[in-house]
Amino acid sequence: MRMEELTWPDFEEAKKSIDTVLIPVGSVEAHGRHLPLGTDVFAPLELCRRVEERVRNAGKDVLIAPPIWYGHTFVLNVYPGTIDVRADAFKAYVREVISEFVEEGFKRVVLMNGHGGNVYPLIEAAEEVAESYPNAEIWLINWWIDFREDILSICSSQGHAGQDETSVMLAIRPELVKMDKAVGEKRTSRVRVIRKDIGRELFPDGVNDDPGSATRENGEAILGVISEKIARLLLGED
Ligand SMILES: [Zn+2]
Repeated sequence: MRMEELTWPDFEEAKKSIDTVLIPVGSVEAHGRHLPLGTDVFAPLELCRRVEERVRNAGKDVLIAPPIWYGHTFVLNVYPGTIDVRADAFKAYVREVISEFVEEGFKRVVLMNGHGGNVYPLIEAAEEVAESYPNAEIWLINWWIDFREDILSICSSQGHAGQDETSVMLAIRPELVKMDKAVGEKRTSRVRVIRKDIGRELFPDGVNDDPGSATRENGEAILGVISEKIARLLLGED
């Protein structure tokens, strides 16, 4: 069930039998010359859609809330099309959104995150809500981190706009992926260096991995295994 498609009386009715809301969270951000700027929302939104379908088949409903599109993305802000929201503003905004869903009566708020720069502000936002609402439970799912083992059993590498993310996008919106421009390499730094233009070194063209061997089949496999595992967690089967 997609919240933005409901009227308020529909929503009020739905709340009677639904205790979990999934909120896709992403960023509008450079993802190489081959992936669209909305990649970090497309992926978690698709995971939410598949999780909803899976739990519905098990006889349970969840609500999918409208995505939070703009995130915190300091490093990639050196590239055109990256729209960065400062961490404190992003944290405060997300905190208000989560709080509202808790006020609406949802027992569990699942932040389905698609973007690395959001992780710390999302944890802080969730902690602040949990301080204010002792009964609230917030889950933070970072799909490429939490399910890294599964991903690396399908792909030989992963990274920003890399093999895993590109495969996932080939499965979701293949018409938006320019595979002829999918090039890159893994670059790492021994310690975290924070400098305004560090993104040009660590993420040349907005990529940090080799996306060349991405395939639609691998993307399907990744989405399948992750959505299955999340659905099982929500159903209390794991
Ligand atoms: Zn991404």
